[in-house]
Amino acid sequence: MGTQAAEQPASATTHPASVPAHTGLLIIGASQSGVQLAVSLRALGFDEHITLLGDEDHRPYQRPALSKEFLQGTVESESLIFRSNDYWAEHNVELVKGEYIVRIDKDADGSGVAHASSGREFPFKRLALTVGARARKLDIDGGDLDGVLYLRNADDALALKARVGDATDVVVIGGGFIGLEAASSLQKMGKNVTVLEFGPRLVGRAVGEETAEYFLQAHRSRGLDIRLNTSAARFTSNADGGASVAAVELQDGTVLPAQIVLIGIGVIPNTQLAEQLGLAVDNGVVVDRFALASDGSTVAVGDVANMPNPVPGSEPGERIRLESVNNAIEHAKVAAYSLTGRHEEYAGIPWFWSNQADLKLQIAGLCNGFDATVLRRDEERGKFSVLYYRQGRIIAADCVNAPLDFMAVKNALAKGRNIPADAAADPATQLKTITTDS
Ligand SMILES: Cc1cc2nc3c(=O)[nH]c(=O)nc-3n(C[C@H](O)[C@H](O)[C@H](O)COP(=O)(O)OP(=O)(O)OC[C@H]3O[C@@H](n4cnc5c(N)ncnc54)[C@H](O)[C@@H]3O)c2cc1C
Repeated sequence: MGTQAAEQPASATTHPASVPAHTGLLIIGASQSGVQLAVSLRALGFDEHITLLGDEDHRPYQRPALSKEFLQGTVESESLIFRSNDYWAEHNVELVKGEYIVRIDKDADGSGVAHASSGREFPFKRLALTVGARARKLDIDGGDLDGVLYLRNADDALALKARVGDATDVVVIGGGFIGLEAASSLQKMGKNVTVLEFGPRLVGRAVGEETAEYFLQAHRSRGLDIRLNTSAARFTSNADGGASVAAVELQDGTVLPAQIVLIGIGVIPNTQLAEQLGLAVDNGVVVDRFALASDGSTVAVGDVANMPNPVPGSEPGERIRLESVNNAIEHAKVAAYSLTGRHEEYAGIPWFWSNQADLKLQIAGLCNGFDATVLRRDEERGKFSVLYYRQGRIIAADCVNAPLDFMAVKNALAKGRNIPADAAADPATQLKTITTDS
């Protein structure tokens, strides 16, 4: 019996429930952070067994295209897959799909067993939580009608794509990045799109006032109907009481036809397992500079982690939870160092991108706590940048169709250099030519 089991290849299907297979590292969450953690560990020579486990039935894939190229049909799902099955096999990473972990028993030495809803058990010596975040739900009447959708994962995107062909009118609820990206994609696909934003401006606090206003005007001039300070009161079906959404009724009584309602009102970090383990949780799993949770052994990475602000010069004690690909990658590298006994801090400067119609936004740094801005606008070339300063030092930039500005600011921040505000104001000046050492 034992010999037979040993001869079988290590795969998700060869071990009956509750028979321990491997006891190396268990990574829960097989997406951007989990994949990067496994890849970085192998690159660092980590030679223990790795189980990369996720609840989705798909092989791990990149999410950003879901609201952009994949929705528009310009890329195929296969091109979103991070790594081939051969890669995982060659690197001795056991990929487990379709298993949702509901409970973890953990000993004081950091080892334990994770229990899946299927009944399977996954023993581990070390644990990594890369469980990301889930879409925040809008709880109003009609929220369970067919065609009221969210966009967090591939199944959500497939459900949206399946309905798009028959729809004429779409209402997007939420003027954040995902809402605006999806709205732009759907508009490009010929739909009549209305965006409802509850707040007084677009994109919440992720960008400053000037960038939010720029996007508002740019989208409106491209034909998107954007309504600020507006919220939905209920979703309704046809008068015959069908199961599908047919309209959105606003708080002021206005009725908008909608065969699709797409809700993008932010995400909630998946802290359930961390809470059950008794780890410190505060808008995410609280981790130190080395991605270690409060038990000192579990690592938590990416969208789920609340970490010390990694930007040089940030206020002591300032913490942040970031939702971006770049952060998932860089943070996973920090965790990989931790798990191999090295203590290396977050490298580089957080950056982010969002493509909406022909507007290519790139953000370098974090604008929290800025006290001055410099606006660089080149109407003719469709370029727009806002540079953010704190006490005379550049801390971030939002750049639309201005990749050179973005690169210059990102490089300056990474090297601890400054871009003096007075010299930066002329949009004809190349920022990289005016960076200074202090
Ligand atoms: C539509 C869309 C567009 C985006 N566009 C951009 C962009 O343009 N630029 C950018 O920088 N970022 C973008 N992002 C954000 C980026 O994709 C995320 O920041 C990134 O995916 C975070 O990776 P993560 O691995 O930390 O978490 P996630 O990607 O959320 O992955 C977590 C995984 O864990 C699984 N999981 C959760 N709980 C359990 C459990 N108990 N058991 C098993 N599995 C579990 C989840 O199902 C999921 O597969 C976008 C996101 C979306 C949804």
